[in-house]
Formats: sequence, C-alpha cells, structure tokens
Amino acid sequence: MDLVDPFGRTIRDLRISVTDRCNFRCTYCMPEEGMQWVPRSEVLTFEEFERLGRIFVERFEVDGLRLTGGEPTVRAHLPVLVAKLAELRVPAGSSSPLAGQKPDLSITTNGATFRLLAHELREAGLDRVNISLDTLQRDRFQQMTRRDELVRVLDGIEAAKEAGFSPVKINAVVERGVNDDEILDLARFGRERGVEVRFIEFMPLDATGHWMNDKVVSQDEIVSAIAAEFPLEQVPARGAAPADRWRYLDGAGMIGVIPTVTKPFCGDCDRVRLTADGQFRTCLFATSEFDLRALMRAGASDDDLAMEIQRAVGTKWAGHQINQVNFIRPTRSMSQIGG
Ligand code: SF4
Repeated sequence: MDLVDPFGRTIRDLRISVTDRCNFRCTYCMPEEGMQWVPRSEVLTFEEFERLGRIFVERFEVDGLRLTGGEPTVRAHLPVLVAKLAELRVPAGSSSPLAGQKPDLSITTNGATFRLLAHELREAGLDRVNISLDTLQRDRFQQMTRRDELVRVLDGIEAAKEAGFSPVKINAVVERGVNDDEILDLARFGRERGVEVRFIEFMPLDATGHWMNDKVVSQDEIVSAIAAEFPLEQVPARGAAPADRWRYLDGAGMIGVIPTVTKPFCGDCDRVRLTADGQFRTCLFATSEFDLRALMRAGASDDDLAMEIQRAVGTKWAGHQINQVNFIRPTRSMSQIGG
C-alpha cells in the first residue's frame, strides 16, 4: 500500500537519524560546545529502527532508507543495523522499481572514520554513500568544522571508492563569504577524483541561528561559476531526487546542485524523516512531529504504528516556506533532524 500525502506525492524515501551526536562541530550546524544530546535511553534501539523500517518498507513500499545523524558513524556497531535493514524486502507487487528486492540503503557521513567502516558497511548491504566536504583547505576546514580532520575525510573518500561504492557523492554546503571562493576547486576535485560533487544551498537549520538569505549562494551562481571554466549540459528532470544535475561536456562526470532556498523542489518530495529519538517528521522544516517511540514503548501494535504514520503523512504540507512571511524555523537544528 502506497503512503500518499494530501498533494498526491507518494512517499518512497525515509531518512533515519541513528544518532544526534557528532564528532565534528560545523559552524553552520552546531555551537562549539555541542548540543544537549538526547539521553541514550531515549534513542531508538536497533530493534526499534528495524521494526519501523519494516513497517515503512514492507507495508508502505518505501524503497529508499538513508542513514544520517548527527554523524551516523559515531553510532556503535552501525554495520549491524545496516545488515538488519538489508534483510527487508519491498513487496513483490509494489510499483517501486525495487519491488521484491531489498531497499536502497545509503548514508550521509562526514567521512572522518569511513576508512575504518567502508568495507564492513558495504558487506552489510550499504549501497551508496554521500560524504560531506565543504572545503579543500586544511585551515579553513578546521575553522568550519572545529576539527583538524581534512586528511582523514579525503582518505574516507578514497576508502569509499576502494570499497566499491559508486558513484561516491560529495555534499558541499556553500556559504557566501565562507567557502564560495572554492566552488571551482571543489568541482575540479570531483573531476580529478571521479566523485560527483553536489553543492547544497545554505539552509536555515543551523543551531546558532546565524542563517541569513544573503549568505545563500544560489544554484544559478554555482552553475555559472563552474560553467565558465567547464562547459556543462543540464541532465533532464530529476524525479523526486533533491539535486538538479549537470554533466561536463568533456565527459569528466557530473555535478549536482540542491537549490532548497532559491528553487524549492517540494512539489516532487517523496521524503519523510525519523529522528534518533523516534519522532516522525513529514518535512525537513516541519514544525510538528509524531512520537512513534512513545507508541512503540507503550506496546503499540504494527497496525497502530502504521495508522499513526498514515495520519502524520495526511498532515504533510505542500512545502517549506523559507523566505515567506509565515516561515517558522524548526525548533530542531540539522544535527537533531538528520540531512
Ligand atoms: S523542504 Fe520538506 S517538503 Fe520540501 S523537499 Fe524538503 S522535505 Fe520535502
């Protein structure tokens, strides 16, 4: 049975935040001292993630599960959870292209410890990896993340390629006056390393609340900066995927740009989210949540949970209201929601 929202969009993609904790302190995400972490007892267990994953995949034909955080690799024994989710099967009769198969399993990571986990995650059933990298300059990396980890992140990218993940995607958040002078360098990096760089417009989800519209470098600015050096051709429609994509005319690969602020793509949105503490969110910018953890721990049946999920999706709005007068920042920051 498909999970369809009031605007006729079918939900196919569940983002699962497996922890709110992180080993970085990115300035556009959280303060230096970190956040008020969710007590461990309130974070879902692997069995609870698996149970909810099973309902979304086997009951609602969700065919994409993306693991996020905080930083998902700081969650101990992560390959065990991946192996559990890899056991799930999209129903054979589903309209999903993955009908009868395991869901597509992916992860968004900062890459610092990926060298240690790449092969184990691959063997456990992980299909795709996105590694966050906003700068190639070591000192700027330290400024932006408050960690001197650029070398390990670059090695994490190599480890992902060696483990057979393909394409390895790089997520680069562009902030005006911070790293927008590196757009071309990051594009060159992708061309030389054979990875697909996806530039992300800066979003109002930073815990320190310093997001401003004039800090946003738009998709148009990013694409024209790259095209001036490397001619590009836009790839036809993206479907529900968040990134618009371009290919280099000289065949050196692809780039993507996620234009959340300047060209919202909510009309095709097929995504919902589960936070590490079991709150169900129908949108990244949602201002309300549905407590699936409380239901589960109160003894709810799978039918009860499924009904609550349907009820929640029935409230999904048309899209975020960034730059509109009625825009309300979510009370949770990106690290507490998951990318
Ligand atoms: S902002 Fe919300 S509705 Fe829009 S694409 Fe993102 S998750 Fe979907």
